[in-house]
Amino acid sequence: MDIIKQSDLVKPSANAKRQAAASETRLDPFSGQWSIFAPQRTERPDEFVEHRPTIKTDVACPFCRGNESETPPAVWSKHIPETARLFSADDGPADYEDWSVRVVPNKFPAVDSIDETSTAPSTRPSALFQSNAVTGGHEVIVESPRHFHSLTELDIAEIDLIFQAYRDRIRHYRNVAGVQYVSVFKNVGRTAGASLSHSHSQLIATDRIPQPVASVVENMGRHRANTGCCLRCDVVRAERKAKERVVACDETVIATCPFASQLPMLVRVTTLKHQACFEDLGDRELESVSRMVYRVITWLEQLRPGTAYNYCLHTKPPGIVDPSDSFHWYIDIFPRMSQVAGFEWGSGCMINPILPEEAAASLRKCSASRNPRRF
Ligand SMILES: [Zn+2]
Ligand SMILES: [Zn+2]
Repeated sequence: MDIIKQSDLVKPSANAKRQAAASETRLDPFSGQWSIFAPQRTERPDEFVEHRPTIKTDVACPFCRGNESETPPAVWSKHIPETARLFSADDGPADYEDWSVRVVPNKFPAVDSIDETSTAPSTRPSALFQSNAVTGGHEVIVESPRHFHSLTELDIAEIDLIFQAYRDRIRHYRNVAGVQYVSVFKNVGRTAGASLSHSHSQLIATDRIPQPVASVVENMGRHRANTGCCLRCDVVRAERKAKERVVACDETVIATCPFASQLPMLVRVTTLKHQACFEDLGDRELESVSRMVYRVITWLEQLRPGTAYNYCLHTKPPGIVDPSDSFHWYIDIFPRMSQVAGFEWGSGCMINPILPEEAAASLRKCSASRNPRRF
């Protein structure tokens, strides 16, 4: 799909520029879905040459050590002592700011900070053209001071720290009044939506729950009401019994290719123990999760070297009331192997060319043949 920027279409007026400082959501009355409009994001830097997978080399990377002033000040930062690290060479000059993972507010946010609503457009009362200001937070998790592209180029101590950052920042937003939903995701490669190649993830918190997420919550609540059980725990038990879609499993975490997977080679990771919120995981569980995510991406990259990929972390939205404890967190990891085309856009129904049983078998073969050197 061609990437067309708003600035290519129209020259924004002064009034439009003022309005572009704020994000808003608009409701499609037919589908019931809300879209977020964030025109200010067209101004963000883009390292990738459009239409090609090559990377511009003349752009200074704002995430590299020494360039910390190029981003807003960190809201979270931690450093792994050198003695605990497996790889510490070539980390750059000695006068650097001490950090291994840092979290900064996004300079070009998709949603405005929840306490900066003054520039947001007012609610439109029209039944046909409903819009609202959208607020929350948008942060970038910079995963290393070194210029790496994929999570698998980092060591396990660094990856564990990245997942600690996710946990801490979700906990933060869970306690921010008005926040209903928190999404943590990672884009690696142009076709996965990345605009900067330096390994990073993002967190977006919003003051509303997207409709597809609300549907998942509703379905899980219905299953709990009908059976008294958690739907994900039931599925995990059934998958362990059937075995054919299980990619890997340890004492804490399981990775499977879901039975009705919408995307080819999608792998879902979750805890064996019922756990509604990712941010409530203990240190040892978190380490198991980060290790499993690392392993899964290693196998995906073994099957498709240099693949673009995404992962999306789903935790219980802070805005839902769930007295029956029906939600169970999970993370989906998927390589970008297919484009969303006409039928998918038209119907909302994905066509997946790879059966999850075959995907799981291929990934199991990788896990059997590979003994990651960092474990
Ligand atoms: Zn960099
Ligand atoms: Zn469960």
